Amino acid sequence: MRQSELDVGDVGQVARTGAVPPGRDIDELVAAAHARGLRHAEGTVADYIPILAQVDPELFGLCVVDVDGGVHEVGDTGARFSIQSISKAFVYALLCDALGHEEVFDVVGVNNTGAAFNSVVAIELNEGHPGNPMVNAGAIATTALMPSATAEEKWEAVRNGLSRFAGRGLEVDDDVYRSESLTNQRNRAIAQLLESYGRIRSDPAEAVDVYTRQCSLLVDAHDLAVMGATLADGGVNPVTGERVVSADVCRDTLAVLAASGLYERSGEWLFEIGLPGKSGVAGGLVTVAPGKAGIGAYAPRLDSAGNSVRGQIGTAYLSRALGLNIFASEPH
Ligand code: GLN
Repeated sequence: MRQSELDVGDVGQVARTGAVPPGRDIDELVAAAHARGLRHAEGTVADYIPILAQVDPELFGLCVVDVDGGVHEVGDTGARFSIQSISKAFVYALLCDALGHEEVFDVVGVNNTGAAFNSVVAIELNEGHPGNPMVNAGAIATTALMPSATAEEKWEAVRNGLSRFAGRGLEVDDDVYRSESLTNQRNRAIAQLLESYGRIRSDPAEAVDVYTRQCSLLVDAHDLAVMGATLADGGVNPVTGERVVSADVCRDTLAVLAASGLYERSGEWLFEIGLPGKSGVAGGLVTVAPGKAGIGAYAPRLDSAGNSVRGQIGTAYLSRALGLNIFASEPH
């Protein structure tokens, strides 16, 4: 989205290199960001996974969790939705933690494809390389690489790992899992194409099934903020105190999110908001201000790339008002 669409015109821009400001200030800014998002009803709810179309499009929750574990939230922050593509960021972090930077780099890659999240053409143009772990091809390859002997063990590693990021046990929405399993022919085709190029060495159908389950995990905006705050806090969940992944893995994961977290709109997002983020087609959006905070947003109406419109508007406001843009500085 462009600056004019993001509705940030009169917010001003501060650069802040230390921590986020004290709690009360954040509460006020989150409320203002939420009010800003509520003005907007652009976008449409995803319907290519049939059950997603049944959601109330007006839902909107916005939550900031800082690296001290402080929570600042407004709106429908307890409304649950399927995590969808946001899972890709956290499964990638878990895989990098297990296998190391180099091995994952070679197989999955880190470059933006410039194409839609479920593009088949992008794989063909890259001679069978998935491109990066934030598009479906790279995410399915990532899940397939999770170091477990069976699909069931892979699934448990994914579910447990994402639960540690969230600080609570996450559960699958069976209706979403069923709805997507019945309509995910495209993802199955992508997995088989990757197999034909030798990029998936385990059973491609099993990899897609685990991927579909991970996308069906239920979260809310508060969970996303905690998960983002864990990536902001060098891999330690600031609410539970548990180390989930290493600080190096957080750094690498955030670099990938900056390049590809909002698909083919990642450049626009980085230009306007200046933070690593990851969206999902159910309307979730997680944004990470390294060393400062995680922002979780939920609003089901999406732009044409599949990114939450109100989520982007609320996050853009917070990035500016809290001085989070990682590229902003002031003369020394
Ligand atoms: N599960 C969805 C899919 O594979 C996730 C896509 C998304 O959130 N962009 O199509």
